[in-house]
Amino acid sequence: MDQSKIDALRALPVPAFSHLIDGRVVDASDGGRMPVLSPIDGTVLTSVAMGTARDMETAIAAARVAFDDGRWSAQPPAARKKVLLRWADLIEANAMELAVLGVRDNGTEIGMALRAEPGSAAGTIRYYAEALDKIYGEIAPTAPDVLGLIHKEPVGVVGVIVPWNFPLMIGAWKLAPALAMGNCVVLKPAETASLTLLRMAELALEAGLPPGVLNVVTGKGAVVGEALGLSMDVDALVFTGSGGTGRRLMEYAARSNMKRVYLELGGKSPNIVFADAPDLAEAARTAATAIFRNAGQVCVAGSRLLVEASIHDDFVAEVASAAQAMRVGDPLRLDTHIGAVNSEAQLMRNLGFVDTARAEGGQVITGGGRILQESGGYYMAPTIVTGVTPDATLAQQEVFGPVLAVTPFDTEAEAVRIANATVYGLAGAVWTSDLGRAHRMVRAVRTGVMHVNTYGGADGTVPLGGVGQSGNGHDKSLHAIDKYINLKTAWIRL
Ligand code: NAD
Repeated sequence: MDQSKIDALRALPVPAFSHLIDGRVVDASDGGRMPVLSPIDGTVLTSVAMGTARDMETAIAAARVAFDDGRWSAQPPAARKKVLLRWADLIEANAMELAVLGVRDNGTEIGMALRAEPGSAAGTIRYYAEALDKIYGEIAPTAPDVLGLIHKEPVGVVGVIVPWNFPLMIGAWKLAPALAMGNCVVLKPAETASLTLLRMAELALEAGLPPGVLNVVTGKGAVVGEALGLSMDVDALVFTGSGGTGRRLMEYAARSNMKRVYLELGGKSPNIVFADAPDLAEAARTAATAIFRNAGQVCVAGSRLLVEASIHDDFVAEVASAAQAMRVGDPLRLDTHIGAVNSEAQLMRNLGFVDTARAEGGQVITGGGRILQESGGYYMAPTIVTGVTPDATLAQQEVFGPVLAVTPFDTEAEAVRIANATVYGLAGAVWTSDLGRAHRMVRAVRTGVMHVNTYGGADGTVPLGGVGQSGNGHDKSLHAIDKYINLKTAWIRL
């Protein structure tokens, strides 16, 4: 990675972007546009189309026609694979451009953005491209006088709604398996992170994806997102974002055509440290990165630190010094550890949680406030609050910012009780040298992902999904494919 290259890219003006519908760049039907503010310095970067419900209906109609005429779904798997592999190559060839554009749009530190955004999106697309011609139908073990065939068919038109924290990575988790299985897609990016997804969709056209197969409509969730959710012509809705929006999507489905809804929602993931952790210094450093990378805007962030009481004070002091050593600032500098908070509204929300934590008896031992305000950007010091009781707001509600809640525990049973005492269940970790305890904790903590003596392990080969109000269904791995196919059975009398 080369700082001078990043600096050259950040100096480039960003063109205005509009929807991508049926292979064409299209303005909003009423000409509406939304400014795009850069969280780095609060300046206007560019603008995107502010979509209307009519724009969304146009995009859904384009996807429906494309699906029904088979221009993609009826192509031989090998042909679809070729297009998707070309798309991954193009994303990789433009990785630096995409990463810098994304950081200017959403504020993630560039080192992480390069790995987690274009790099991971290309990897995900390649994974499903390689998988798509290895998926077979089945023959059921029926009585010998019939043949029961199980076909795996695409679902049809899939609506994809994504958040702003990792638009390309999370977008690809959904677009890649959906397209690989022959579906057509209408994508609705988050208001504050549309640019790279629009650029990635342009690259898909360049790779040979037929027009209408992947459509992107930008705008407000409450307008274009709602129109997508309420459509009678969308067969499945896949979503990553907040629980409140997830709940609305289920309502939209119930009020319209009962489309399938798959939700990846938030978390309040417990990072549980026992006194017998193999390396407490490493556990402390990891506890800091588990919550503070990307300014805490990570769904699986280890936002609750549960520490065995006997080591609590020393351990927390080490986490605090690791936090203080993290450089917060310009996310386009390679030596920055923590970039900007995505928007001013999000920053204010984060600060509100700190105020509430103080009012509920928590002690802010480091951070707690906005910093670098003179830059015009939205930065927050990594913040650690101790003395957070299991029922406190900070222990119960997701901040989605750089705020760590610390709670002591005395026994394994108490650690499990506290860990499981939220409505969420997305991720978690246990640090211990006791193999039996490690396995017991993996079983006992109600969550979709559990780490042992590490945090944040991620690979395209393993599923990511939550339990409880962290969602349903899984992204990543071959398991994700289930969301994008229908099983059709055929009975043949012999
Ligand atoms: P959000 O729910 O506000 O927005 C997510 C998306 O939904 C955006 O594109 C938004 O425009 C759209 N939307 C908003 N209102 C809508 C409506 N009424 N109808 C249809 N669409 C609508 O969430 P956010 O603030 O962008 O993202 C942060 C949340 O995402 C956090 O809670 C975080 O934990 C969660 N998240 C989860 C995962 C995971 O894998 N489980 C990953 C990343 C983020």
